[in-house]
Amino acid sequence: MTDARDPNSAAQPQGHLGQLDDLREQVDQINLQLLDLLSRRGELVAEIGRLKSSEGGTKFYDPKREEDQLRLVRQANRGPFTDAAISAMFKEIFKASLDLEETREQRKLLVSRKQKSEDTVLTIGDVRIGGSEAPVLIAGPCAIESEGQMDQTAALVKELGGGILRGGAYKPRTSPYGFQGMGVDGLQLGRKVADRHGMQFMTEVMDTRDVEVVAQYADILQIGARNMHNFSLLREVGAVRRPVLLKRGLSATMEEWLYAAEYILSGGNENVIMCERGIRTFEKWTRNTLDLSAVALIKQESHLPVVVDVTHAAGRRDLLLPLARAALAVGADGIHVEVHPQPATAMSDNEQQLDFEGFRQFVAGLNLISKQR
Ligand code: PEP
Ligand code: MN
Repeated sequence: MTDARDPNSAAQPQGHLGQLDDLREQVDQINLQLLDLLSRRGELVAEIGRLKSSEGGTKFYDPKREEDQLRLVRQANRGPFTDAAISAMFKEIFKASLDLEETREQRKLLVSRKQKSEDTVLTIGDVRIGGSEAPVLIAGPCAIESEGQMDQTAALVKELGGGILRGGAYKPRTSPYGFQGMGVDGLQLGRKVADRHGMQFMTEVMDTRDVEVVAQYADILQIGARNMHNFSLLREVGAVRRPVLLKRGLSATMEEWLYAAEYILSGGNENVIMCERGIRTFEKWTRNTLDLSAVALIKQESHLPVVVDVTHAAGRRDLLLPLARAALAVGADGIHVEVHPQPATAMSDNEQQLDFEGFRQFVAGLNLISKQR
């Protein structure tokens, strides 16, 4: 049995078949012409993008300009497509052009692997971080409270292989009535104790006005999660030559976090360590949700070293070791953890800081697994 609608059917009159082939041939030709026109349009749009970014612009989306273009094509539309169909097709073209511009823009980011393919390895005193270096251990109390507290902690961290001593002198506290840190006295204590034990000293800077004094005492400036979006502060630490540990903001996307790092690099400071410290989610059983996919993805997208702060991510001691092991397994270049001689009486974060015995067990457990490359 033959089907009259089947173009390949023997019953199909020969003339029809030839006409169909001819029409299809014309459609194919128009497709190629459209492709050629689209490519030419893409090149023009790229040129516009280059002009815009040479004037310092990074935003390519211009709704007014799109509306003007749509109005023009709708006015010229003589069918058979409806104005709505034509608008939808052109919107797709606009969107693809915009994507092209944004990809081009991201390729230019200093933090990007597309810009620099090899891993950045930072040398901070005798500590090396990133690339194929062994993972570093950054540890110390949440806040600097006294010389004794810092000294005992530094001795232990150093004994167990940690080269970087942390401790906050300026503390970002939820309540303005909470302990705010020892300020310059704390910076001096941190410096003195780190020197005594041959360690690098890392501490948080919260205010543009303090960058100079913090850089005077610290080897690494920490930008806390709450300040990741503080663009003035990012610019300020971009202008100093001290390495910066940049925590991920409480609800920052990976892209926003990378752009925050870009602020620092574009200021001329290439010594940035990215620090994943958990993000806010609906989950309540942990203080934050540790996003290990960010560790793997940022290492893929960027050449910068990435460390994981398990303390602020978990907010509970029982998860610190498994999370740190997992972080190393996905390629983290270091682990950040808080340790205090008497966590119960600590001035901040007493729920989550390890005591000395807990810290010994933590480090012993960590040595069981090495960083995957
Ligand atoms: C800290 O490291 O003490 C701290 C306040 O961390 P975060 O900015 O990640 O909350
Ligand atoms: Mn803390």
